[in-house]
Amino acid sequence: MKRIALARRPEGVPAPQDFSIETMDIPAIKAGEVLVRVSCLSLDPYMRGRMSDAPSYAPSVDLGATMTGQGVGRVVASKADGFAVGDLVTGMTGWADHAVLPAAELRKLPEDIPESTALGVLGMPGFTAWTGLRKYGLPKAGETLVVASATGPVGSMVGQLAKAAGLRTIAIAGGPEKCALAVETFGFDAAIDHKAHDDAASLRAAIAAATPDGVDIYWENVGGKVLEAVMPLMNVGGRIPVCGMIAWYNGAEAGDKLPLIWRSVLTKRLSVNGLIIFDHWDDFPDFLSDVAPKVAAGDIAYLEDIAHGLDDMPQTFISMLTGGNTGKQIVKL
Ligand code: NDP
Repeated sequence: MKRIALARRPEGVPAPQDFSIETMDIPAIKAGEVLVRVSCLSLDPYMRGRMSDAPSYAPSVDLGATMTGQGVGRVVASKADGFAVGDLVTGMTGWADHAVLPAAELRKLPEDIPESTALGVLGMPGFTAWTGLRKYGLPKAGETLVVASATGPVGSMVGQLAKAAGLRTIAIAGGPEKCALAVETFGFDAAIDHKAHDDAASLRAAIAAATPDGVDIYWENVGGKVLEAVMPLMNVGGRIPVCGMIAWYNGAEAGDKLPLIWRSVLTKRLSVNGLIIFDHWDDFPDFLSDVAPKVAAGDIAYLEDIAHGLDDMPQTFISMLTGGNTGKQIVKL
């Protein structure tokens, strides 16, 4: 089998040399385990955090270990009740073309929808949006929501759910093509290109023009310049589900913005909630029963960026961290 391991811990932006591509024998399976041939892998921003050994909510990947990640594939051998050769399954396969996993860590997938959806719109990112908006966004018709990385799997779901709930939705995205997609494919009322604004003040003026009634929900995916731009535009009683801060994942300095941000939290009486989706898995079946029929009916749109093969996976990952992807980043094997 072939796998990609963590060769060294990156400093700043990851480099291809931080990864090693290896071939090895497929491990023997034990009682209760299943061997999966992987057909589709997910690349997600959180993986940057796993490459670091800084303390976090989840353990780091050890040096020399397979990079962590979710995959989809078919069972090719099983010593577990309930899993037969040929079953389509998903689990934490890691960046590899085969994985041996305990049956308890696998979930069977239906055959009638594209398998990659289990990694995006009907998987962890879609579930993150659905959960965070309900629990912490508390959307009300007539309000205004702003979200960045708006064409990604989390942002695009946040925007569509908020729009369906009767909100005015404003996308922040990188480049004119992504801005057009945000409006035309995901139904945002307006989209603003953060790359067209060199500083937060200029970006803030553009967001202010698109949000005449202020901002009630800022869904935080990115931090950085976008956060700095939005904070003074928040309405009293606004909500900020804090989902990610990808602008800082590669270690860029935040600068001295804390007084501006903290002042907005105080004076606008904002509710700021950290969201880690792993706390919410009990709600996953409810998410699927709500959202899967809407995806099947075409009422929720999704976009995937498909790369091919394990060899280029490190480069695809590095590119995704700075906006190289358009839609959910998938790697097909
Ligand atoms: P995305 O595909 O949306 O993430 C990559 C995108 O981030 C890029 O295409 C780019 O979009 C945007 N981006 C990168 N750098 C910057 C920057 N400096 N400023 C603004 N945007 C930037 O992936 P996801 O939808 O999976 O993730 C979105 C966020 O949600 C991430 O922060 C991720 O870590 C977080 N997340 C958190 C979870 C949790 O449990 N808390 C679970 C899942 C995701 P563009 O080109 O449009 O700028």
